[in-house]
Amino acid sequence: MVCSKCGSNNINVQVVTRVKSKKHGFLYWMFIGWWLELMMWLIFTLPWLIIKIFKPKKVTSKVQKMAICQECGHSWKVK
Ligand SMILES: [Zn+2]
Repeated sequence: MVCSKCGSNNINVQVVTRVKSKKHGFLYWMFIGWWLELMMWLIFTLPWLIIKIFKPKKVTSKVQKMAICQECGHSWKVK
């Protein structure tokens, strides 16, 4: 495997589980984040619980291989 950016073959392949994380600023959390989170929790917790109870277990976690170049830090998906 060779880095497409710098041509180095010093590649580190890692298995990563993708977790969606949105980064918001401090002000966002001060004015919107906390009550949005609360509202989302109130709106979605009940249906989520109902789904949990009635639907069979289905574990879906996306595992992906990521190659990271040790030379330049370039990272890409490995199929
Ligand atoms: Zn590289």
